[in-house]
Amino acid sequence: MNWTYLNDIFIPKEEVRISPFDRGFLFGDGVYEVIPVYESKAFHLEDHISRLERSLKQTGINKPKVWNDIPQIINELIKKNVFPNQVVYLQVTRGEDVVRSHIPDPSISPTLFLNSWELSINPYRLNPDKPGLDVKILEDPRWERCDVKATTLLSNVIALREANIEGRDGVIFCIKGKVTEGAASNVFAVFGNSVLTTPESNQILSGITRKHVLSLLGSKGIETLEQDLSVKNLYEADEVWMTSSTQEIQPVRKIDDKELSAKSPKDSLWFDLLSSYLV
Ligand code: PMP
Repeated sequence: MNWTYLNDIFIPKEEVRISPFDRGFLFGDGVYEVIPVYESKAFHLEDHISRLERSLKQTGINKPKVWNDIPQIINELIKKNVFPNQVVYLQVTRGEDVVRSHIPDPSISPTLFLNSWELSINPYRLNPDKPGLDVKILEDPRWERCDVKATTLLSNVIALREANIEGRDGVIFCIKGKVTEGAASNVFAVFGNSVLTTPESNQILSGITRKHVLSLLGSKGIETLEQDLSVKNLYEADEVWMTSSTQEIQPVRKIDDKELSAKSPKDSLWFDLLSSYLV
């Protein structure tokens, strides 16, 4: 059986229900986290909880009343859903309103929902020789608050759906030739001995994996630069990576119709980083 958690109880997946008057359903008025679990332990849990706290503050959504118990609830869910490696999804919406109004009733209680499923191991971990990702560049169609981890993801869904129909693995957004991020990941590029990634701003989500990768690079003594990257820079990079909690680090092979420089995994920094990723 697969278990979920809604508000203050664990419920089997088949039985869980919310009201259509929930503002998450009506307005996408909610925030979320996706937390990877390895060997039954949530990875970088504190960073995910801090980002969730920030998202709640940014949107003015109240903290769920079980806020302090969230780490325990996550651990209980991991135990109940058995798989050693999982993805925990956690969402907080502003809650159920009596009438549909853009202006929320401040007295409503937020809805807390969690579920989890088996984590598919990064395919580049299992087979480093697998061809890198084939991604397309798209003018960033999103709003000016991409720093908020909001459930309102229609632009990302449309972009990834279209890329998928075209047979591509993903999308890199850019604004007037300047890279922002992937549709569900951050972007890194290697130039010689330096690694560049887009700086934090309201145009990107500050990824927990981005932070982890920057710290891994730092501990290896590799120079990291948080600075603007142009699409043209990407074509000329020694390596381009996409990072996220579920993807970890994945190499890019092709951007639009441009093949990037081909390096074997053993000569590539992404492969070296993957081997120390979980340490
Ligand atoms: N940017 C966007 C738009 C994302 O959706 C994600 C993944 N949720 C990321 C970046 C990467 O974030 P994280 O490393 O915390 O998974």
